Amino acid sequence: MMQEAPGYGAKGSDTEVGRVVIVGGGTAGWMAAAAFSRFLNNGRRKITVVESDAIGTVGVGEATIPPIITFNSMLDIDENEFLRATRGTFKLGIEFVNWGRIGDRYFHPFGNFGQDIHGIPFHQLWLRERRRSDPGSIAEYCMSAMAAAQGRFGRPARDARPPLSALSYAFHFDAGLYAQFLRKRAEREGVKRQEGTIANVEREGETGDVAAVVLESGERIAGDLFIDCSGFRGLLIEQALGAGFEDWSHWLPCDRAIAMPTANVTSPQPFTRSTAHPAGWQWRIPLQHRTGNGHVYSSHYMDDDDATRILLANLEGQALAEPRPIGFATGRRKLAWSHNVIALGLSSGFLEPLESTSIHLIQNGISRLLALFPGKPISPVERDEFNRGMQATYEDVRDFLILHYKATQRDDTPFWRYVRDMPIPETLERRIELWKLHARVFRNEGELFAVPSWVAVLLGQNIQPLGYDPIADSLDEERVAGAISQLRRDYRQAAANLPSQEQFLRMSGAWADDPSSVSLTAGVPS
Ligand SMILES: Cc1cc2nc3c(=O)[nH]c(=O)nc-3n(C[C@H](O)[C@H](O)[C@H](O)COP(=O)(O)OP(=O)(O)OC[C@H]3O[C@@H](n4cnc5c(N)ncnc54)[C@H](O)[C@@H]3O)c2cc1C
Repeated sequence: MMQEAPGYGAKGSDTEVGRVVIVGGGTAGWMAAAAFSRFLNNGRRKITVVESDAIGTVGVGEATIPPIITFNSMLDIDENEFLRATRGTFKLGIEFVNWGRIGDRYFHPFGNFGQDIHGIPFHQLWLRERRRSDPGSIAEYCMSAMAAAQGRFGRPARDARPPLSALSYAFHFDAGLYAQFLRKRAEREGVKRQEGTIANVEREGETGDVAAVVLESGERIAGDLFIDCSGFRGLLIEQALGAGFEDWSHWLPCDRAIAMPTANVTSPQPFTRSTAHPAGWQWRIPLQHRTGNGHVYSSHYMDDDDATRILLANLEGQALAEPRPIGFATGRRKLAWSHNVIALGLSSGFLEPLESTSIHLIQNGISRLLALFPGKPISPVERDEFNRGMQATYEDVRDFLILHYKATQRDDTPFWRYVRDMPIPETLERRIELWKLHARVFRNEGELFAVPSWVAVLLGQNIQPLGYDPIADSLDEERVAGAISQLRRDYRQAAANLPSQEQFLRMSGAWADDPSSVSLTAGVPS
């Protein structure tokens, strides 16, 4: 018999969302719970997380991008405590190997290249200089890239001056431990956790809104607003409401991954590595206590056995678990917010982890929802605005990921020939054409990846522009050349003065005292 769970009585008022039910306790569920308990739990709202130990979480997802720093500081999280708790390391960018051509190597760093002069982008000045001298690779003008190349790190102080102030970073961490860390905080703030598997979703006859979720035990959890963090299955948003899925696999054909952690063989490097393989690519993510590895590939061009063989042949350390296959569909939920259900995390869509954007998309959805938090009844104006914003964000990230495949010169396998020749979204086509003329990149309002990111990948994958922007000629060539070579010396020198990343983690109290005592099962395939 169904019974109302104790403590779930309506709070708020007739016009206020009083009961928020978060379905799922993976990274998305606990990030949402921690943020909502910090910003919405003013004693008038009841926030509940329902998670199923029997179903578990995806258990991978370890590399992030710099906005995660904003998310953590929104929650008043101490960075060193967070790094200790999640066995985290710093990430200064991604090294791409074999992407343009086999044997190529380039770095997509966080932060800027050089300094713009009179509003003229640095890369234009560097391109001009390249015509008359050898200014070296553009990565030599980026603080994060130079520190990464030497395995070094330093956290810029608030009052730091260039070039150290230009060091931009994110983290690698054990996503399972991050969820646990956030859970503790959320529970401290009054979030209630309900263990159990949801067997049924009840909807209101008149509006079609979700009224309650019902557990296998018969317990009924009613709510005003439901946050679907149930992972790929999209328990509420898709299975109950049928919001629809826009498939992008024709542009991003990878649909499977084999994940496998290994023991560290060196001190952890402060960057992610992405190595292209015959039908996909492999990630290497160094944490304090282990290295996360995975081979992402297209099942149309490669089977699981070959994918596993390639992964095993390209590991550096001793395996800590069996290889674990994960299937996924690439695309986005057509409506991330439908009725009174908002999808966050994998239930809202998935784009392969090539630029480590999934956790960011969770953060983006949470911030957007906080900015558009509804009353009762829900206004379609706020809902539509949320959906428009999420769609634009997903599409921006999608285009940036497709660029990595389209901008290849590889033709050694059917997979690379397919992605090199495939038609691409018109939005991306336009960007590449603009770049090819005068190396111009225009960023859409609110777009995640800034101009230097596009420059890094386009140049890194050998898409050379015909010329530079003629506006660069308004600056004196000799003086700019002097400034450029000074910058190069400054970045190199500043990086050489930094400690190694491990030294820095230890010095700042961010290294877990005894990493080997950490359970290796968190975030590790079981
Ligand atoms: C191969 C791969 C690599 C990735 N790498 C990265 C990366 O480097 N960086 C990055 O940012 N992201 C990465 N991601 C994405 C990242 O893993 C996810 O974005 C993140 O883990 C969020 O997952 P989630 O919380 O949405 O879903 P899940 O982790 O799947 O959690 C779903 C939750 O819903 C609960 N649930 C489901 N059904 C029910 C039910 N019936 N009843 C009760 N509870 C239920 C489960 O118990 C679980 O708690 C990667 C993903 C994949 C697949």
